[in-house]
Amino acid sequence: MSSPRTAPVIVWFRQDLRLADNPALHAAVESGRPVLPVFILDAETPGDWKLGGAARWWLHHSLSALNTRLDQTGNHLVLRAGNSHNVLKELIKETGAAAVYWNRRYESSARQRDSDIKSHLKEQGLDVQSFNATLLVEPWTVKNKSGDPFRVFTPFWRSVRSEVDPGTPLKAPSQIQSLDKWPTSEELDDWNLLPRNPDWAKDFPDVWTPGEDGARQRLTDFLEDDAAHYAGGRDRPDKPWTSRLSPHLAFGEISPRQIVAVAESHRETVGDKNTEKFLSEIGWREFSYNLLYHFPNFPEQNYQDKFDRFPWLNNSDTLLAWQRGQTGYPIVDAGMRQLWQTGWMHNRVRMITASFLIKHLMTDWREGERWFWDTLVDADLANNSASWQWVAGSGADAAPYFRIFNPITQGEKFDPNGEYIRKWVPEIAQLPNKFLNKPWEAGPIVLKDAGIELGQTYPEPIVDHSAARERALDAFKSLKEAA
Ligand code: FAD
Repeated sequence: MSSPRTAPVIVWFRQDLRLADNPALHAAVESGRPVLPVFILDAETPGDWKLGGAARWWLHHSLSALNTRLDQTGNHLVLRAGNSHNVLKELIKETGAAAVYWNRRYESSARQRDSDIKSHLKEQGLDVQSFNATLLVEPWTVKNKSGDPFRVFTPFWRSVRSEVDPGTPLKAPSQIQSLDKWPTSEELDDWNLLPRNPDWAKDFPDVWTPGEDGARQRLTDFLEDDAAHYAGGRDRPDKPWTSRLSPHLAFGEISPRQIVAVAESHRETVGDKNTEKFLSEIGWREFSYNLLYHFPNFPEQNYQDKFDRFPWLNNSDTLLAWQRGQTGYPIVDAGMRQLWQTGWMHNRVRMITASFLIKHLMTDWREGERWFWDTLVDADLANNSASWQWVAGSGADAAPYFRIFNPITQGEKFDPNGEYIRKWVPEIAQLPNKFLNKPWEAGPIVLKDAGIELGQTYPEPIVDHSAARERALDAFKSLKEAA
């Protein structure tokens, strides 16, 4: 057994794949002991929500980037697959580690597991510490005047903004003391996180640079080039006016505290309105985590239980058409194809496509939630479940069910020149703007000139908008009547 001064500290990396502003790593370095950074691929966690395909692609590249960063400090990442608790016990035995540090997670299965591990290791006499690396405020620290969790965003965010000082982000350590004798590490390539045959992620590297450096660069580029358009332009999918930081945040390659600090330092050039709007979206992420923590079944259960009686149709053919971007509604199809080809979709189009699935196709929101979970590089249990329930109307502080997005006018309004649709649905690119969101209204000559044969080269709409709208409203009314 090593002496306590030379016994290593294990830093268990999870959704915090960065060196800067990483409190668990910082504490380990400060302890003056050798540091053993480990990432555990645990197929048993988190519960049923195993990493989706697109997130596995991201994880592979993010771990590789983390290892490069650790190499620069004279250290490196140990990879192990298996049950987290067992792997940690093995590593403690192999290295004589006397401490285990990690940053906290908020999903119910991860919380349960972490708390079991913590009490067991403490019983064995280890120094076990956990930290906050993921949120501006941890869910148990913000309460309303009655001492209950906030269920409405605006007062939640007002309270966070007025009461919480996120503090100064921690610097990345330039050197991290290494171990004399390293435990073995598995090979990243052997984990098969990347898709093969077919390689549906082949275009992802054109769009994304996973890792801490990529995250920092993304934030700087956004603040210097695009953030000045944010408040007025964040709803435009044809423009690059949102930050695209979501996958970096989901994997913890950047912290919200770093984002706040850098955004504040650009406030003068970006403007107050844009800065506040951008920070309030970071606030929605905080709010989603607040909901997930206080209502752990949020990803699986209607928050408003009257929705348990909703008469979903759950038709597998229309679900497939939606997943494939073949609904005949161009803005919906553009979004679903952007998602498939890049692992990401613009927020406005996420709302339109989700509303279409739930309301026009009367498909249970959990089907859409699962599809997004598998295809998004930014899949995040808190944000995904809160957003799906928001669109469904079944959540906390949700959009009312009767607000049904019209996919035609939404496309016309938010993609006014049709650039977004033309990019993702190229088979209708030759249509004049007037018909781009409703090809079925174009006459035979216009369609022929645009090289389109409806039903052949591009689908007829799978439902009629007005009829589908009425059907959804009737279904909602039946809920109210039964109540
Ligand atoms: P920006 O506009 O630049 O916002 C900055 C950051 O704020 C984002 O990176 C994100 O972390 C956070 N944020 C922005 N909007 C929201 C929001 N509405 N709710 C919570 N956080 C937000 N976001 C995810 O990160 N993961 C998901 O799995 C996810 N699923 C969604 C499913 C649906 C049906 C909908 C409607 C939205 C979903 N969102 C999800 C929220 C939002 O669409 C994305 O966070 C956003 O589009 C990411 O792009 P951005 O980084 O350019 O956002």
